[in-house]
Amino acid sequence: MRLTGKEYWLLFWEAIVTIGALLMIDWAVLTMLAHFIYSNPGVENGIFEIKRSINIGPQRIKIWSYQWIAIFLALICDILVLTWRLIRRYHLYQMGHIIQELHYIAEGNFKHRIPYKLGKRLQPIIDSVNALVDAQIKAREDERAVERSKDEMITNVSHDLRTPLTSIIGYLGLIESSQGHLPPADVKKYSHTAYTKAIQMKSLVDDLFEFAQVQQLDMRMKIKKISLTDMLDQLAASFELEAQNKHIKIETMVPTNEIFIEGDPDKLARLFMNLIQNGLKYGEKATYIRLIATIENKYVHIIVANDGIAIPQEAVKHLFDRFYRVESSRSPKTGGTGLGLAISQGVVEAHGGEILARSNSQITEFEVILPIEQKGNKETEDASKK
Ligand code: ATP
Ligand code: MG
Repeated sequence: MRLTGKEYWLLFWEAIVTIGALLMIDWAVLTMLAHFIYSNPGVENGIFEIKRSINIGPQRIKIWSYQWIAIFLALICDILVLTWRLIRRYHLYQMGHIIQELHYIAEGNFKHRIPYKLGKRLQPIIDSVNALVDAQIKAREDERAVERSKDEMITNVSHDLRTPLTSIIGYLGLIESSQGHLPPADVKKYSHTAYTKAIQMKSLVDDLFEFAQVQQLDMRMKIKKISLTDMLDQLAASFELEAQNKHIKIETMVPTNEIFIEGDPDKLARLFMNLIQNGLKYGEKATYIRLIATIENKYVHIIVANDGIAIPQEAVKHLFDRFYRVESSRSPKTGGTGLGLAISQGVVEAHGGEILARSNSQITEFEVILPIEQKGNKETEDASKK
């Protein structure tokens, strides 16, 4: 890091003043030393003896006078003190520069980074500050992305609510304006359409409500010990009839030992229901839906799989995005909102797990990985004790 011209001058003056002060101290110390030696003949003789004994040695070492040795030692001390003071002052200037840079960043110049490369002691400070600014920028960008997707969501929701509502108002309006002159068959048809649209709206509002709940960080979970084996069997049984009507065979494949996990039973049931319903609704040309559970280490893997036509790879990436529906399933017949998988993902993450989607020409599968025990989620209560 380069210092400014002014700082170099200050450093120079600091050096001059320090040298002046040190020379004065040297002079005082040396004078006092000389005075001490001259006033104590014993010490002077001692020094003489030492010098003589060294001179007598085989190499005949030539020794300076002790005055010169004292001056030499004093100068070495001076150089050390001077270097130490100058280095300290230099570090202070460096800190001043870093603080200036910090102020500059704090004024809102978040693209700026402290460009200096300093020594081992100060570099960690600069690295931490730069990392902090990076994190701050990332947090702001994330916040903006959330804002944007909230806006998008409001637009989507208003659109999805307005479409059925417009039809409801239209059909009810026809009945209302006819003043009872419409043939009963028409009244029945119109009111039926209005009713179906109203149900569609309710399902969207329910989904939205649930989605908003799942998104809350402190989502309330009622953790209980549940038999996953029972849950999957019951779910398969409850969809049996619907599956039969569509010529789909629904089956569970679970280990012989009953699997118990800790989790929120309602939320988990809702999650698997959505996966099974999706298989039934969107699994084109599907002949089976399988619920497969396996245990690996401290996690249980539950796969909900169906055969039939694959979901395009491009779409698989977006399946968990809210309101996302694969183009082919946008028909009003299936009537989904595209929130099911977003809710499912929220539920799985709240349990500390993970959900994955895979699809190829043979099989479309959603894999839910859940920890068997809920360590992070308090309020755990054993259902068997109730
Ligand atoms: P909701 O679940 O809220 O009623 P949805 O079923 O449309 O609405 P998601 O459950 O999030 O919403 O599913 C998103 C989309 O993923 C579906 O619209 C469908 O296009 C696609 N999809 C999901 N599961 C399957 C599947 N098993 N086979 C083919 N496509 C699927
Ligand atoms: Mg769904």
